[in-house]
Amino acid sequence: MNAKEALNLLIDGNNRFASSNHFFPNLIEERRLELRSGQNPFAVIISCSDSRVPAEIVFDRGLGDLFVIRNAGNIISSSVIGSVEYAVSYLNVSLILVLGHDDCGAINATLDNASESFFVRGIQEKILPAIEEAKNQNGDLVYNSVINNIKNQVNKLKTAGNIIPQMLNNEEIQILGGYYCLKSGKIDFFNI
Ligand SMILES: [Zn+2]
Repeated sequence: MNAKEALNLLIDGNNRFASSNHFFPNLIEERRLELRSGQNPFAVIISCSDSRVPAEIVFDRGLGDLFVIRNAGNIISSSVIGSVEYAVSYLNVSLILVLGHDDCGAINATLDNASESFFVRGIQEKILPAIEEAKNQNGDLVYNSVINNIKNQVNKLKTAGNIIPQMLNNEEIQILGGYYCLKSGKIDFFNI
C-alpha cells in the first residue's frame, strides 16, 4: 500500500471515530489467527503516551493495522528511529505519522519548569526548542508549542540515520504531522 492510500485509511478511520460510527475492524478471532503468519501494518504512528490518544482507537483500526510507537511528548529518540527503520525496511510501511495533541502533559510540564529527574529532563530537552520558538510567535503559547514540537520531531526523523532520508529521497515513504483535538476527536494532518 502506498502512502496516499494509507493516509486515506487513517482519515476514514478518524472520521468514523470522531462521528461515533466506529467499525471496530480487524478485532475478531479470524483476523488474530490470520496474523500468526506475519504482520503487514499500513502506517507507523509515533504518538504521545497520553491515555486519551490511543492510536488504534482514534483511527478505528484493529489488529495488525498500525505500527505504534508511543512516548511522552511524541519525541524522536534513537529507539524511535530504530523502530521506524525496522517498520519501513522489514514491514514495508510507507506512511509515518507524528501525532501530537492539545493539553499535552509533556508540553505543559516543559512550559512550567525543568524536572528534577534526569530522565524527564531528557524528554523536556527535546521539547524545549518548540517552546522557545513559540515564545516569539503570535497566538496561543501552548497550541503553538504543540505544533512546533510536531514539526521539530518530523524534521528530526526526516534526517535521522541513513535509511529514512534515503527512502524519503526515493519517494518510498512519506512522513506527516498530525494534531489531535481532544474535544472533537478529529485529527488535522499536515505536510511539513
Ligand atoms: Zn501528550
